[in-house]
Amino acid sequence: MEQRLRDEAKTLLEQGKVDYIIGFEPGSLKFTTTPLITKDKDDIDRLVINPFIVNNLSVFLTEIEGRVGIVAKGCDSRSIVSLIQDNKVAREDIVILGVPCPGIIDLGKVERLAGKDRDELDDITRDGDKVMVTVDGKKNESPVTEVLYDNCLGCEFPAPQEYDVLLGEPGPLAADKAASRQGIEALEGMPPEQRWEFWKEEFSRCIRCYACRNVCPACFCQRCFVEESEPQWILPVPRWQDNLIFQVIRNIHVAGRCTDCGECERACPVNIPLRSLTKEMYDIVGDLFHFKAGMDKDAPPLMTHYEYEEAEDLIR
Ligand code: SF4
Ligand code: SF4
Ligand code: SF4
Repeated sequence: MEQRLRDEAKTLLEQGKVDYIIGFEPGSLKFTTTPLITKDKDDIDRLVINPFIVNNLSVFLTEIEGRVGIVAKGCDSRSIVSLIQDNKVAREDIVILGVPCPGIIDLGKVERLAGKDRDELDDITRDGDKVMVTVDGKKNESPVTEVLYDNCLGCEFPAPQEYDVLLGEPGPLAADKAASRQGIEALEGMPPEQRWEFWKEEFSRCIRCYACRNVCPACFCQRCFVEESEPQWILPVPRWQDNLIFQVIRNIHVAGRCTDCGECERACPVNIPLRSLTKEMYDIVGDLFHFKAGMDKDAPPLMTHYEYEEAEDLIR
């Protein structure tokens, strides 16, 4: 897949079909990748596809002017389609280089499994349903479901839904739906008072860095409500009450746009389990409106559209 990607990306730049390529290159830390945004075909050999291409690169599309070739996994392709539905980007300006995704490896889970820090690991490789972690020269094999991100374990559409080039053959995903919703189920099982205390505690740790918002392709407002001063919705001081309001409103804003890519939770520097909110909203949108974000570029966005049958008396 990697060589095919490099060939396709180089051709796109050489033929002037795109101005930029957005993909992944190796990160400076072990077992990481970092976004590569380039218009130079000499950079193309740095592009990689591996089990650590975690970021949802579609977040960059609204910031780049010109035609773009972009590497997209299943969830990323749906975020791109969602941006097209919201008229944030034009389909003809984007060449989607689709990656059939087998799930992304969560280094935190690997560390817990191996009982070692990532810097102490010699190697992490994947072969189908197995992951091999080498420590001190000894290779340990585990089911890959033990180390995939929770959102990947519950992924419904690992293959891109919209693409111009599909870089490989879609294969089965090592899923574990129960594990994917474990944290959410635990919260649902709590009495409301306990759940309230849980979130109060969690949002007391929020430092309002806005990383969760900034990495989210569905959070595309030019001026976010948190920066409004007339009216002022929340205080700039990160009190837990305002932090909670920030996330509640953010979740409503991304309803019908969120593709459960997991980026917001991954970006949070204090590990607040944000996916318990976003995935719950994703499921509510699916159950109530039979709507899944980013599946059809020609469909109207959820929040701008309603059916007569679903209208409450207030609307009718
Ligand atoms: S959510 Fe699906 S498409 Fe996205 S990274 Fe995980 S497995 Fe891949
Ligand atoms: S990323 Fe975490 S700490 Fe930063 S604003 Fe979001 S919830 Fe708060
Ligand atoms: S809310 Fe989180 S999971 Fe949903 S699209 Fe945004 S970054 Fe991805």
